[in-house]
Amino acid sequence: MENRFKFYNTLSRTVETVVPHEDGKIAMYTCGPTVYHFAHIGNLRSYMMEDVLEKALRYVGYDVKRVMNITDVGHLSSDADTGEDKMVKSAQKEHKTVMEIAKFYTDAFFDDCKKLNIKRPDVVEPATNCIPEFIHMVEVLLEKGYAYVAGGNVYFDTSKLENYYVFSTQTEDDMLVGVRDDVEEDTNKKNKNDFVLWFTKSKFEDQALKWDSPWGVGYPGWHIECSCIAMKYLGEYMDIHCGGVDNIFPHHTNEIAQSESYLGHKWCNYWFHVNHLNDKSGKMSKSKGNILTVSVLQEKGYDPMVYRLFCLQSHYRKPLEFSYDIMDNTAAAYKKLVKRIAGLKAEGEIEQEKFDEFKGKFLDAICNDLNTSMAITVLYDLLKADMNDATKLALVKDFDNVLSLNLTEAKNGAEKTVDAELESFVLAKIEERKEAKKAKDFAKADAIRDELMAKGIVIKDTREGVVWHLAEE
Ligand code: AMP
Ligand code: ZN
Repeated sequence: MENRFKFYNTLSRTVETVVPHEDGKIAMYTCGPTVYHFAHIGNLRSYMMEDVLEKALRYVGYDVKRVMNITDVGHLSSDADTGEDKMVKSAQKEHKTVMEIAKFYTDAFFDDCKKLNIKRPDVVEPATNCIPEFIHMVEVLLEKGYAYVAGGNVYFDTSKLENYYVFSTQTEDDMLVGVRDDVEEDTNKKNKNDFVLWFTKSKFEDQALKWDSPWGVGYPGWHIECSCIAMKYLGEYMDIHCGGVDNIFPHHTNEIAQSESYLGHKWCNYWFHVNHLNDKSGKMSKSKGNILTVSVLQEKGYDPMVYRLFCLQSHYRKPLEFSYDIMDNTAAAYKKLVKRIAGLKAEGEIEQEKFDEFKGKFLDAICNDLNTSMAITVLYDLLKADMNDATKLALVKDFDNVLSLNLTEAKNGAEKTVDAELESFVLAKIEERKEAKKAKDFAKADAIRDELMAKGIVIKDTREGVVWHLAEE
């Protein structure tokens, strides 16, 4: 098939046309979530843009196979090999086992993805399912002389590679700045950037999940899981590997180092990285705490589709700053857009020439480094264009295969939706206000009413009791 899809390949630092290993097929891998916490909307920006990439590739005609790991073991609190184990820390805090924590947050992650119309990858594999594969790769790396045992752990020897820093021309010291802040030097390492493939000795003796291995009882390093899981399901050659920009170093750099040393040839041709969602204080991150989740947005009355539109309106390679003002504008725009589409009548014949013209423009936008904001402009243009409603509706449905904004499904012009969580929150507040009134604490009762009002919820005292509704915009 004709290859016309272009995007910015971090490896070559240019916008390149994707030419897959096998004609018409794309083997794609996504670094999955660490499951010790809810995903924040920054993480979900990355997954959403990767979802758009996958859907755009399918839209242009590729048969895509996408694989994702679930990091349920061995992810430490820094990107280097030290720090506390986040899974263990979270399990202790929540009085659960590590596997219970992993299951809970894996399910929560896919619930959030569903709300945002992020398709589930074809294969989702938890790291804990692949221990024999990890051990095998470490054995081969040792045999080939790319790894060494020191202080009980197995390390990858980065000095064995001619070019370890594949993504950058930066110097070793530059690259270390971002990861060294809270990292103590591991004296077992021969070179600063060597990384652990298999741990048997670690700072935390309370590591919950451990497996037997030729080097003693222990657990895998973080990077090895992506290399092994990708190869398990996609074979020795992969076309596109995705992640957030913070994964470029050290995670993706280390994935390439060990995979190509193991295979003896180039592994993956195209690397797709999504820039960060920031808040006023900088990059949104799980370790900072106080994170914004999809549920929080819903509690505040936003349809998750509004967040999807918010992300699609900006380019995936630019940092994006979250603000409620922009969310409010986006909510109003989304409501208007869906209302307008709901008013289209599916009558008459499709005007094929017009259909093809706009489909061509849409294709140009998404094939040009996934220009989603241009794709949305094409959507607005077609609604204004001179053609019948049936053609417009057919185009909107067609574009929504990539945008996934529920453009033709939303009811009543995309009123703010009320979900069960919001409902129970409001009912609890109403109850609290009733108690305050009973105790003649009217200041508190008023404060509760104002708090709800600030969240866009109006309450009214009626003879039948308190009723509530979402505020009109
Ligand atoms: P984690 O669960 O921390 O491994 O992160 C999951 C994905 O989200 C990775 O691809 C990260 O690169 C990405 N990510 C982390 N923080 C952000 C952020 N603030 N904005 C966008 N993507 C992020
Ligand atoms: Zn990964």
